[in-house]
Amino acid sequence: MLNLVLFGPPGAGKGTQSARIIEKYGLIHLSTGDILRAELAEGTELGIQAKTLMDQGLLVPDEIVVGMISAKISVNPQAPGFIFDGFPRTIAQAQALDVMLKEKNTQISCMIALVVPDDELKTRLLKRGIETGRSDDNEETIVRRIKEYQDKTTPVADYYGQQQKLHSLQGTGSVDDIFDRIVSVIEALPA
Ligand code: AMP
Repeated sequence: MLNLVLFGPPGAGKGTQSARIIEKYGLIHLSTGDILRAELAEGTELGIQAKTLMDQGLLVPDEIVVGMISAKISVNPQAPGFIFDGFPRTIAQAQALDVMLKEKNTQISCMIALVVPDDELKTRLLKRGIETGRSDDNEETIVRRIKEYQDKTTPVADYYGQQQKLHSLQGTGSVDDIFDRIVSVIEALPA
């Protein structure tokens, strides 16, 4: 199985690149942000609880996102692999993911980290907020989300680095160029 963690701060281009990776490799896309927004759109209890935190730019509790990912893995037994987008965001989530995948006799193949300067992230997110109306893409929340990323999520890169699974790539330039960099990493993975 090819199991990728696509990593990077908010606005790094994870969603955009996930779509390209899925098209080429047929992986199942698991984005915890997308799942939470879908829960909210359906008006579920979980979605309503998460909204307060999401609107503040804070992480939702580990148990919630781990439970969501576990459920999605279970309903896709024939998946050729998964692309994890926006998950794991804490060490506890990364450890829980390792356990879930081990139960399926598989593991993370690699983490691809998109590196983008903070100024560019803010510009991209403000633009997305205007274009899509996404409520957490506003000036104040963006700053909090980037801080949450720096405080709680960057250690996750070290977690995979220690396992020799971390590949950091420049996340600026054209979408095609970034995708080519990602494909080079995937193609170089051991079979
Ligand atoms: P995203 O679409 O990945 O930027 O996520 C939007 C928001 O959903 C984040 O700011 C968090 O509030 C929440 N969220 C998404 N994924 C996670 C996660 N893995 N752990 C905790 N909170 C998450």
